[in-house]
Order: sequence, then structure tokens, then C-alpha cells
Amino acid sequence: IHFEKCELELIVQDSLALCLEKFRISGVKLNKTVQNTMIECRPVEISQVLINLLNNAFYAVRNSEEKEIELIASHDGKKVRIEVSDSGPAIAPEIRAKIMEPFFTTKPLGEGTGLGLSISRNIIDSHKGTIVLCEKASRTTFVVEFPISQH
Ligand code: ADP
Ligand code: MG
Repeated sequence: IHFEKCELELIVQDSLALCLEKFRISGVKLNKTVQNTMIECRPVEISQVLINLLNNAFYAVRNSEEKEIELIASHDGKKVRIEVSDSGPAIAPEIRAKIMEPFFTTKPLGEGTGLGLSISRNIIDSHKGTIVLCEKASRTTFVVEFPISQH
């Protein structure tokens, strides 16, 4: 499939459109910061990655007292960087290495397929990028980076 030129801001908006109502009725606060730019990508796939990360973040905060999700999209002229972080419980050290594996899930039967992160990693691989988990100031943070231009 071809890469298209599109605006980072629009991809973020499309992804959030599917989540915002759910966040609102569940009392989840979303902080969004976007530094807009034109990027070359398969926009539907990048939205799919963001929706996966946002849904995981939502699941993580849903029973927490503080329900807060942050999405930061930025670039340095060469690379796009999208961070999704949440105020939910940290990912246990012993499962960190496994979360990207296909079918790995800690969710009850019917609540997760264990495919979200492995599909996301395949998509980001196909954009010559990386997706990594970091714990930043005790927040679960997924960082996606890929080149702005695919040439
Ligand atoms: P699924 O959501 O269907 O379980 P994923 O591949 O999206 O599959 O995620 C795999 C596992 O990674 C989850 O079951 C969960 O244990 C862990 N995980 C992913 N994102 C988060 C997050 N934001 N906070 C805590 N755990 C997470
Ligand atoms: Mg998931």
C-alpha cells in the first residue's frame, strides 16, 4: 500500500474521535499536545496504532482514582514522535518483555486479544520506526517514532 502525505494533527484527531466519548463518560481526563506537520505514512494504520495505545491506556486507568491520559505528538523535522502515557498502575517488570508478543494479554477472556501491541509494532516496523515502553516519572509511557519521509 502506498504512503500518503497527511497532517499529523488530523491523524491524532481521527484516532481521538473514536475514544473521546468513552473517556468523557468514564471521567478520564485527556491532555493532548500536537506540534503539527505534514508526514508521509499510511494514515489509517497510524490511527490504528494510536487507538490501540489509547484503549490500553483507558483500560489501565479505568479503576484508578486519578484517570489521566496524555498524548504528545511532536517532530524534529526528520522524525515524528508520539507518546501516549497514563496514570494507571505500572506494568510489572516480569511481563515488560512479553507485552509486544502476539496473543500476550493480562486481560480476562473476552476483554483483550493480546494482539494490539504486536499489530502496532508490525505497523511501526513497516514505517521504519520504533515503538517502546518506558516508565517516565512512574507513568506507563509508550513512545512511537518513525521518519517523517519514507524515502
Ligand atoms: P490486549 O490489550 O488485548 O491485552 P495488547 O497487545 O494491546 O493486548 O497489550 C498486551 C498487554 O500489555 C496487556 O494485556 C497489558 O498487560 C499490557 N499493557 C499494554 N498497555 C498497557 C498500559 N497502558 N498499562 C498497563 N498495561 C498495559
Ligand atoms: Mg490492547
